[in-house]
Amino acid sequence: MNLKQRPKPRPLQKLDAAIPRLSPTFPNLGRMQEDARKHQQGYSGEKKIDYFLDNLAPIHTILHDVYLRENNKNFQMDSLAIANHSISLIDSKNYNGTITFNTTLRQLTRSDGKVESGFGYPITQVNNQNFHLQNWLNQHNLGHIPIKSFVAIADPSTVVKVEGSQEEISNYVVHAAELPVRILNADRQFGKKGARKLSDYQIGKTILSKCSEFDIDLFKKYGVRPADILPGVICPDCGWRGMERVYNGWHCRKCHCFSRHAHLKALDDYFLLVKDSITNKACMWFLGSINRGTATRILKTSGLVYNNEHRCWQKA
Ligand SMILES: [Zn+2]
Repeated sequence: MNLKQRPKPRPLQKLDAAIPRLSPTFPNLGRMQEDARKHQQGYSGEKKIDYFLDNLAPIHTILHDVYLRENNKNFQMDSLAIANHSISLIDSKNYNGTITFNTTLRQLTRSDGKVESGFGYPITQVNNQNFHLQNWLNQHNLGHIPIKSFVAIADPSTVVKVEGSQEEISNYVVHAAELPVRILNADRQFGKKGARKLSDYQIGKTILSKCSEFDIDLFKKYGVRPADILPGVICPDCGWRGMERVYNGWHCRKCHCFSRHAHLKALDDYFLLVKDSITNKACMWFLGSINRGTATRILKTSGLVYNNEHRCWQKA
């Protein structure tokens, strides 16, 4: 069973919402765009891995995007597959071109044919995650469970090269399509060595109950203040900010499209970027070009709940 699906990561949600609402001269805009691109590439890779990993869901327990706390430190794992005798920990990597693992220098380089760039060594990363997960399991009386780590390559066209020990790399690194078979084989080996039979569903539930969500503080990371967030309804077709309210919807002055529900995305942006509750006045300001009555009507029909005490609207 798949106990935890993969949502769009919150840092990416925030970046995607903030970037079109910042002034083009905002100092960290370039860095934010680059980070959004990296998050998006990672997220696309993770979803490609999920497609294959979820083949195991009918027989084993799968959790995606697991974020736990151990020894006052948070650690994140892309996916866990809990099988009959072991847990497989999967870190996904999405690179295009050729990647080269050097087992002596413990470094990874990627070449796209023109430029060569260096990355953190994935084997070290996945071993660190393994270490934290082992400690976490120990603390929850699950220390008997063996863990197997994999570095899964999301893009089938990525060429993997090794300088040094091929055996060491092949023990960890696997193309996405082969991941289910490798997990089953590893689990069988643990069984043969006498590892106990696990109640995979129960263990999955325990892990799930302790999961939190990875998030970023836009102010701390990029210096974005609520006052930097520019208001307005963004056109779903052309991306222009500042659609005007017309009867029963929104009109874009730039591409002349009409949208009935473009304000819903704007309200989502407000909740992500400004505050987790919205007043009638703030709604008039953020959606722009609407009067009090329209703001009330919109807030009432946007799936929000009214907080009587604070006289504002919140997400249900
Ligand atoms: Zn438009």
